[in-house]
Amino acid sequence: MIEVRLAPECAARLQRELRLAGSNEIGGVLATERVGELVYRIVDLSVQHRGGSFAAFWRDARLHQRFMRRFLDLTGHQYERFNYLGEWHSHPSFPAMPSPRDKQMMYELLAEPNQPANFLVLLVVKRSTSGKLEGSAHAFLRGHRPLQVPLIIEAHDGTISEVAASPRLSLRRALLMRGDSNPPPQKQRKHRWI
Ligand SMILES: [Zn+2]
Repeated sequence: MIEVRLAPECAARLQRELRLAGSNEIGGVLATERVGELVYRIVDLSVQHRGGSFAAFWRDARLHQRFMRRFLDLTGHQYERFNYLGEWHSHPSFPAMPSPRDKQMMYELLAEPNQPANFLVLLVVKRSTSGKLEGSAHAFLRGHRPLQVPLIIEAHDGTISEVAASPRLSLRRALLMRGDSNPPPQKQRKHRWI
């Protein structure tokens, strides 16, 4: 099984970008260095600020292509070592796990005719209510179900920790969503016979 690591600078950048984006979804692509047989370390990432709402994110392919071209140029086109690993985006209002739409998008990217990768990783991240980074990493391989893989964050002092996605919504968010899905009582009453 592959393992995904997040370099300290990238973890710090994600934290900062997530804080600035507030309730809007943001995302981009992951540029990695392969540091072990199956260990991929995220060493840079693109950040698309526009195109996200609180519940969806539209990917700007051209922006990310430019970013990746630059990364490959800077790292000397050593594709075995430095390459595109996949995508990331935030779920400020939902648990940091891929939605059915996210999974579909990853298989669509894998199926693109000019896609050189035979597998892709999707990182979904968010800020916890206490301001910490939460997230999940899933690997997508054609013809296989998504596989959740370990996501390890490296700290500047060299310590590492595995991050997870909290499956539960914050109380505030849960109440808001309950409010969204239930029509107001007045409206319900209008449709009743008695
Ligand atoms: Zn998503």
